[in-house]
Amino acid sequence: MSLTFIRRPAGLQFGGVDVRQLADRAGRTPFFAYERAAIDTRIRELRSLLPPGVHLHYSIKANPMPAVVHYLAARVDGFDVASAQEMAVALNAGAAPADIGFAGPGKSYDDLRRAISSGVNVHVESETQLRLVTALGWELGVQPGVAIRINPDFEVGRSGMRMGGGAAPFGVDVDQVPALLRELQARQVALAGFHIFWGSQCLDAATVIQAQRQSADLVARLARGLSEPPRFVNLGGGFGIPYFPGETPLNVQAVCEAMHDWLPRLCERVSGMTPILELGRYLVGEAGIYVCRVIDRKVSRGRTFVITDGGLHHHLAASGNFGQVLRRNFPVVIGNRPDGVPQQRCHVVGCLCTPLDRLADDIELPEAHIGDLVVVRQSGAYARSASPLHFLSHPEPVEMLV
Ligand SMILES: *Cc1c(COP(=O)(O)O)cnc(C)c1O
Repeated sequence: MSLTFIRRPAGLQFGGVDVRQLADRAGRTPFFAYERAAIDTRIRELRSLLPPGVHLHYSIKANPMPAVVHYLAARVDGFDVASAQEMAVALNAGAAPADIGFAGPGKSYDDLRRAISSGVNVHVESETQLRLVTALGWELGVQPGVAIRINPDFEVGRSGMRMGGGAAPFGVDVDQVPALLRELQARQVALAGFHIFWGSQCLDAATVIQAQRQSADLVARLARGLSEPPRFVNLGGGFGIPYFPGETPLNVQAVCEAMHDWLPRLCERVSGMTPILELGRYLVGEAGIYVCRVIDRKVSRGRTFVITDGGLHHHLAASGNFGQVLRRNFPVVIGNRPDGVPQQRCHVVGCLCTPLDRLADDIELPEAHIGDLVVVRQSGAYARSASPLHFLSHPEPVEMLV
């Protein structure tokens, strides 16, 4: 007699593992999983296109999970941090302090003290920060690493989130930079670098290229009067990833080809500096999923609601409340039946008592049952860490690197 097993239909594969098995490994839902291989491939491909000599930095605020940062430490040239805690994560991952840049408009005295005593570069964003940092250098008996973050005088066309151009709490307006440079000189502190961050989540190659060229021009102009050129020039990042139907991936090849053209001229004009590209979302955003479980299903006035144990407290961006003007659905699948035929219009919601808690609105899915796994893709960046984890006091989601 032979035994016949009923084969379960294949579930979504993630990091070479069936998502149901991942749920078992996590021990509970909801959870986030990030895939090593996807991060590695993304970086390899990018590096093969970039001109030689460009340093790649990871912006930790996109995903600060220590295991992710540790994995990245062996693959990038440095980190950009925006808090003392992110700085600690980068240092613990083994990054060299001189390869860490600390930016942010509201660094406290204690933040700055920790950064300077660790040898981390402080990207000053005001005259106050510059004075504090140079004073701390004297007090601690070290030469502080001081970079100036510039609020550029150009505005970027179609970037998802603009960070420069007009009045901003970020960076120092271009016309105020010369005064800061004079002040540095008076205090006998060398300028470590310039930092320009012009925007985020940009999918249009022409826009990225234009912003990079304008950044390069701006830096070259500012560096002209310096007795000693800065060690590095951080030209920002801004590379976006597609989230919604109709969005196409950024043509990174075109961006890198253009860099082969403008970068040598920048290197000529600002001799000896290291160009840095800082990326968060582009490196890890597509390498992550958020998985929650269907715990109920009900029909209300003709509409079907699929209720999960997840929600906006874990994934604010997927709920459409992370600065989005127009709410659109992140890519969502039923993880245990990824090949199922869509046959049901439904609203996938979270477990919070607020109408804002929607994971997918009016979406066609295979019929979802209690116990099914709902998988939200493109969840590797600005997901868990950008969410109000304590709102309604549910448990925090598990995180895994697979
Ligand atoms: C947030 C941030 C980044 C990363 O932006 P992504 O869109 O994730 O690439 C880079 N630099 C600075 C200064 C930032 O604030």
